[in-house]
Amino acid sequence: MIGLNMKDSMGTLITAYIGLGSNLDNPVAQIKSARTAIGSIEGVSELAFSSLYHSVPMGPQDQPDYVNAALCLETRLTSIELLRSLQAIETLQGRVRQGERWGARTLDLDILLYGDQEIDVPDLKVPHTGLAERSFVLYPLFEIAPQLIIPGKGLLADLVAKCPLDGLRQLA
Ligand code: ATP
Ligand code: MG
Ligand code: MG
Repeated sequence: MIGLNMKDSMGTLITAYIGLGSNLDNPVAQIKSARTAIGSIEGVSELAFSSLYHSVPMGPQDQPDYVNAALCLETRLTSIELLRSLQAIETLQGRVRQGERWGARTLDLDILLYGDQEIDVPDLKVPHTGLAERSFVLYPLFEIAPQLIIPGKGLLADLVAKCPLDGLRQLA
């Protein structure tokens, strides 16, 4: 487009972090499949992917243990476009929303961070709510981005130091 700055016309390149979780229908396969699907979103490139972690459920305890991971990507999608793309992947992988908060699911994809932005709109809160208290989010994130600063919360390293493992362990 003549006369238009390409960067402005295509949006700013943002580094974002995604938290992945699954505890149904072969969680390890679900997480691996989600990684591939995220990398295939048009306008998204993966920059880093953590190890897989095993965690005990938060909330209702009558559900299987979880597999978690964190992914770093870069994109020119807006935060809402990224959220909608992630929700489409959750649906494709059989996520059923049954109304119970924090109930069992084939796949949960949460936007942990979107650049250094703080977002508070009805469908999207970033940094992700609870990020600072959840070992299954903090430790995988720290593995791929040890220098990270969490907007409004400070150094990721300090949050990790204050957060007990709560049964989290790296999968072999
Ligand atoms: P939690 O958000 O506490 O981890 P959850 O992941 O189980 O719980 P979901 O059922 O996946 O919750 O999502 C509920 C709603 O959360 C979604 O409809 C979505 O609009 C909203 N939401 C708000 N902030 C975010 C975010 N940062 N990433 C993903 N979804 C978000
Ligand atoms: Mg979640
Ligand atoms: Mg979610």
